[in-house]
Amino acid sequence: SESSSNCYRVVLIGEHGVGKSSLANIFAGVHDSIDSDCEVLGEDTYERTLMVDGESATIILLDMWDNKREGEWIREHCMQVGDAYLIVYSITDRASFEKASELRIQLRRARQKEDIPIILVGNKSDLVRCREVSVAEGRACAVVFDCKFIETSAAVQHNVKELFEGIVRQVRLRRDSK
Ligand code: GDP
Ligand code: MG
Repeated sequence: SESSSNCYRVVLIGEHGVGKSSLANIFAGVHDSIDSDCEVLGEDTYERTLMVDGESATIILLDMWDNKREGEWIREHCMQVGDAYLIVYSITDRASFEKASELRIQLRRARQKEDIPIILVGNKSDLVRCREVSVAEGRACAVVFDCKFIETSAAVQHNVKELFEGIVRQVRLRRDSK
């Protein structure tokens, strides 16, 4: 609908420990004393309005993928409700990179006829000496996935702002081409 056209539900998915909650916390502005724009809607849901390319966009960020307490249904729920997805792996953990491919396939299956914006996120880029997945591999994987790619570091806050701006741009590209 028109009223919700600038509000996007973005879902974080990926293996446990790759840094999803750390990225969500930066989004929420936990480390950011000046900007208190974020509303915490629940323990794992955050809302924030960003200015991207001169146009405001509200992101509702869901970080509930690892919520075991709620059971398996929550993952099915996550697969259904996103307007966009951040598939996160750790560059220090090849298994998490392989898991990202699995998740991409699951997502495609769950949302067959939709062209959903996705960014493949290689997090922990600060841990250069523990790297198990090269930038080239990440990029090549994103080409196969037909999605965008970025490496981030939640620890040193590198490319995190760019990540959230990027997902807004991806959603808009699809909206504008309709
Ligand atoms: P989640 O299970 O995907 O939500 O991952 P968390 O956000 O809980 O992070 C798991 C662990 O990795 C924590 O100890 C974080 O401090 C650490 N971590 C997360 N992001 C980074 C990063 O970019 N660099 C480094 N060095 N550690 C990170
Ligand atoms: Mg977490």
